[in-house]
Amino acid sequence: MAQLALRRKAMFSAAHAYWFPDRSDEENRALFGKWASKWGHGHNYDVELTVVGELDESTGMVVNITDVDKALKRAIMPLRDKHLTYEVPHFATHPPTTENIVLFLADAFVREFVDPAARLTKITVWETPTLSATLDFQESDTMVALTRSIDFAAAHRLHAPGLSESENLAIFGKCNNPKGHGHNYGVEITVIGEPDPATGMIVDLLALDAVLEREIMVRYDHKHLNDDTEDFREANPTSENLTLAIWRHLENKIPAPARLQKVVVRETDRNFFEYTGL
Ligand SMILES: [Zn+2]
Ligand SMILES: [Zn+2]
Repeated sequence: MAQLALRRKAMFSAAHAYWFPDRSDEENRALFGKWASKWGHGHNYDVELTVVGELDESTGMVVNITDVDKALKRAIMPLRDKHLTYEVPHFATHPPTTENIVLFLADAFVREFVDPAARLTKITVWETPTLSATLDFQESDTMVALTRSIDFAAAHRLHAPGLSESENLAIFGKCNNPKGHGHNYGVEITVIGEPDPATGMIVDLLALDAVLEREIMVRYDHKHLNDDTEDFREANPTSENLTLAIWRHLENKIPAPARLQKVVVRETDRNFFEYTGL
């Protein structure tokens, strides 16, 4: 029998605060730093889940999508249009970070979804289009992956120094244009770890953003990769080499105990490059 995966999306709006209602102002400020605020702010959260099962030959389906929707709706219901910190008891003791929200929704969905033939394998929650948390049961049921997206604008010329002018022109064509051309590069950085029980975060996001600013933005944004960066004085600035260079710059700088899991570089909307350290 064939095994297939079904992905379903949903969204909800909610407010949250990085603040423990039962702790002092001072304790909260020590824990949450710049994020500490007892009033909070809000987001439109997007949710995507993946359910895997065997194809039922009589219905032609893996799972009845109305059962997925029913369970997903019930899982989200306690959060929808609420203030998570003050109105959802779970989050009074587990800060409503994206990491803790994805764990909450996974747990609630699994309890609501009773189908012996299919199972939840992955769930992602986007807090904003540039920050998401994923629980992938095929990797772990306690480790959460956090993905931050950034983008920068840069010029490059595809030119391999070890090859002749005519070989370069034959391989890279118009991308070998002597003065170069440019892209809006998108970079997705995924780090993985277990949420800290006190802060609900797998990594200090401000510290991670500071690393990304220093290691990626300062280095590449509004630069000519060949002429204006150390990385590509000798190496050809293909997106493969750029993906590897970004991995190497970040690998040992992710605030512990989180670790780098994946780097994705989008050169245009039609080509993506991924590296996971292998
Ligand atoms: Zn927020
Ligand atoms: Zn290019």
